Amino acid sequence: DYGDISLKDIDQVAKSSFPLCMRHLFDKLKEDHHLKHGGRMQLGLFLKGVGLNLDDALAFWRAEFSKKVGLEKFEKQYAYTIRHNYGKEGKRTDYTPYSCTKIISSTPGTGDHHGCPYRHFSEENLRAALGTMGVNSRAMEDVIDKVRNRHYQLACTLTFEALHGMPCDAGINHPNQYFSDSKKILQ
Ligand code: SF4
Repeated sequence: DYGDISLKDIDQVAKSSFPLCMRHLFDKLKEDHHLKHGGRMQLGLFLKGVGLNLDDALAFWRAEFSKKVGLEKFEKQYAYTIRHNYGKEGKRTDYTPYSCTKIISSTPGTGDHHGCPYRHFSEENLRAALGTMGVNSRAMEDVIDKVRNRHYQLACTLTFEALHGMPCDAGINHPNQYFSDSKKILQ
């Protein structure tokens, strides 16, 4: 219901329409060719939600992970979870992408990259990440102000508005909603 994305568009779409939590996981995956379990779940279910089909999802994770752990280990150890997330293995549960509330209340440990950057990044790292996204300095101060008052979803909403030059009256309450609202504006 969020429209389909295909593998060839994914880098461009990640830059233009992923919320910071997913952009961060995406960039880390490309950088490290690896993500720990919490990150694989958070990003993997988001990608399912934006319409990446199972074959493309397998190709996407395989391309990165095989650079780090090799193809054989990827197939043995990681491919199952991806199929599982799509309800193709195990209990065939159809896993639902995580909401902001769930992500904000998660507790990432050392080496984890999941979670909500507005909640879990240091201010310094958050400023750097927002700068990379293209948030200007005036909007940046408004975002940081919301973060200091622990209004993480409002901070994300202000980021959305700064990057799209459009109001987001409903506010951001789900990463997949951020994505679909962005696509509506950009296409
Ligand atoms: Fe992601 Fe929600 Fe945090 Fe935005 S507020 S970065 S969409 S978890």
